[in-house]
Amino acid sequence: MKSARTAVAAALLAVAFGATAQQYPTKSPTLLVPFAPGPTDTVGRVIVQAMEKPFGRSFLVENRPSNGGILAPELVAKAAPDGYTILIHHIGMATTPALYRQLRYNPLTDFEYIGLINDVPMTLIARSNFPAANLKELLAYLKSNKDKVALAHAGIGAASHLCGMLFQSAIETELLTVPYKGTGPAMNDLLGGQTDLMCDQTTNTTGHIRGGKVKAYGITSARRAASLPDIPTMEEQGMKGFQVGIWHALYAPKGTPKPIIDRLSGALQEALRDETVKKRFADLGAETFPPERGTPDALRAHLKAEIDKWGPIIRKAGVYAD
Ligand code: ASP
Repeated sequence: MKSARTAVAAALLAVAFGATAQQYPTKSPTLLVPFAPGPTDTVGRVIVQAMEKPFGRSFLVENRPSNGGILAPELVAKAAPDGYTILIHHIGMATTPALYRQLRYNPLTDFEYIGLINDVPMTLIARSNFPAANLKELLAYLKSNKDKVALAHAGIGAASHLCGMLFQSAIETELLTVPYKGTGPAMNDLLGGQTDLMCDQTTNTTGHIRGGKVKAYGITSARRAASLPDIPTMEEQGMKGFQVGIWHALYAPKGTPKPIIDRLSGALQEALRDETVKKRFADLGAETFPPERGTPDALRAHLKAEIDKWGPIIRKAGVYAD
């Protein structure tokens, strides 16, 4: 009897959630961005703008920057699981468990997965008047001037930090690093000449590189980007294995009803099919994932594989934050 009642209750709940999912959203959902306006913010705004169509409602975008982007996932993990708070994050979701001794969320257990968005290479750049014209000159310069050089990044857990760490380990040289609340603000300082070097996503650097506002020494993709054909890959310049792709994805708090996740994921897949979205990302050097990767299962598998890939690399490098 009891189990029958439980079954009825579960069925009613499913119907209620179904009805809620039909009506969802009755107000604007909010997308939390873990960094100040900059590359991840750009990807987030492009994607939620395209996702508005099936919902007929706009998304709000809130920047919640913190060291390495760890605050926004924590806030989303603790938010009401009702589909009104979602998160965009990048590779940092996979690297922070190895970087932080006390992370206040678990990427594998505290979220529902909506789907993957795109993959963005990084570029190693410098202020326009930095005294090195190419990677070879940069390496030579760093040999005798490393103490004069500041490498900007967006905190431990940020893509810029990961890429900067890989660069320092490849050249076996420790540089002075300066953390910012995102590579957006860091870029302002680089453009103003207050800092020297940075690894940053092409979604933030393409315009500045093309406009000659910053120097670019290499790109971290396997092949050159069509949008930046003159920038050689790090690998083709002899840095074997220096490849890093900054994938972005959407998450919701654990327990968000499946019908709502399905609708969000469906809207994401539609957005990934949208030619305007694909062109916008391609112009910024990013590769849009095919719609079949804009699914919870694809994101779950990718996140797990990335945690397994980067955990040992980071632990070997011995970088930790508390
Ligand atoms: N993607 C970050 C941002 O939007 C920066 C980073 O991860 O390095 O600022």
